[in-house]
Amino acid sequence: MMKWQGVGFDLDNTLFSHELAFKKAIKHCYILYLNKFCQSKPIVSTETFFSLFKINSDKYWYLIEEKGLTKREYRRIRFNETMKSLGLPYGDHIADFFHNNYEECVDDYSEPYSGLYELLSLLKNKKIILAIITNGTRKTQCGKIERLKLNKWIQKNNIIISEDVGYEKPEKEIFNCLQKRLQLHSKELLYIGDSWKHDVVGAMDAGWDSIFLNTRNEKRNTNHKPLGEFHTLEEVTSYFLSI
Ligand SMILES: [Mg+2]
Repeated sequence: MMKWQGVGFDLDNTLFSHELAFKKAIKHCYILYLNKFCQSKPIVSTETFFSLFKINSDKYWYLIEEKGLTKREYRRIRFNETMKSLGLPYGDHIADFFHNNYEECVDDYSEPYSGLYELLSLLKNKKIILAIITNGTRKTQCGKIERLKLNKWIQKNNIIISEDVGYEKPEKEIFNCLQKRLQLHSKELLYIGDSWKHDVVGAMDAGWDSIFLNTRNEKRNTNHKPLGEFHTLEEVTSYFLSI
């Protein structure tokens, strides 16, 4: 018998691999870029391009987090720096072309983690209300939710997107927002996510129970004690079956 009335999930890297969708979409956009801008140049392999692009994506992320650059400015920098290093054509208008293509195709590469639908069905059969709390924009996050067919298990009203409500995880207001919608006490709620800071710390500071779905081998940096730490959704399902 489960003590929770509601279970909330994070979206990216919790219900599907954003890392994998990013990788596949960026590689696809590189091919489109080569066809348009590099027909006469010797070609840098997709693998070589992607590994440097990924390094620069991580390297310059602080420009958004700490320096307040917009997403577009950040994307131009990571693209231009990568192409400059590889001796390939670059420039802001090419970077924008590349990322417009990325926006167009990335949802098509979002595949559910294995065991996702079994887990959602198990909880739904136990009459537990399912919800999502995600940071991001409505357009992007809804595109992923649709692609993953999550509306079959999760009502629209139980999906909280930071852009809509004006709060972001780990702020407890965003968790309170769902709690109010569901009219439940914090003790009746459990949250599952892959980010220690946004998901585990955020939910626990709002008074919820939490499960750390550590899909990217992240290190803990506070003393919060989640109910469990797992690496796959199948392990989370086994946990629910064991209690
Ligand atoms: Mg996440």
